[in-house]
Amino acid sequence: MGADVIVIRHPRAGAPHLMASHLDIPVINAGDGMHEHPSQALLDTYTILRHKKTLKGLQVAIVGDIYHSRVARSAIHLLTKFGARITLCGPPEFLPELATSLAPGLHISRTVEESVHGADVVMVLRVQKERLAGQKIGVQDYVARYQMTMARLKLAKTDALLMHPGPIIRGLELTWEVADCPQSAIVEEVRNGVPVRMAILAKALGRAR
Ligand code: ASP
Repeated sequence: MGADVIVIRHPRAGAPHLMASHLDIPVINAGDGMHEHPSQALLDTYTILRHKKTLKGLQVAIVGDIYHSRVARSAIHLLTKFGARITLCGPPEFLPELATSLAPGLHISRTVEESVHGADVVMVLRVQKERLAGQKIGVQDYVARYQMTMARLKLAKTDALLMHPGPIIRGLELTWEVADCPQSAIVEEVRNGVPVRMAILAKALGRAR
């Protein structure tokens, strides 16, 4: 059809890669299954760098359903590449020990208090209720042990940034208060998606300055 570029979101991991191997126009991965979400990682990094001087040595806690999260995987690859120190936090159902092999220097914590302690950035991930069905940890248990509350967020640095790729489920992985607190960058992340994706398109089309 004469497209200059293809942006693809697909439920199967690797679909953009397969498409790119058959086409000679740029293919942009807008999220492939549980695998990767590169533009989310870029816009999150952009958001972080609007508040923090450098990624080097930055303490980042990623809390929630890491296993099913393409956002977490891409964030881990990008942030560790530039020297951020990441602690992953969640129950074993959502965070197998194997996750440490995603990048060098990753830590796993099973208690949210420990993972958030002294953090510069706290990234909370969505937890779909359906995914808790049939697991050892039920919804109530998850909320009690892992929900981001103001008391837990206070354990992070006073200027810590609270992030979430969305869509958020208020009352599940975070409280209403946390979602709307002054440290919350959730709306800013959405807003920053526009210029970052414009830049990705410009770069793909060879129009970046
Ligand atoms: N906010 C993200 C998006 O819709 C979340 C995701 O795809 O996993 O692009």
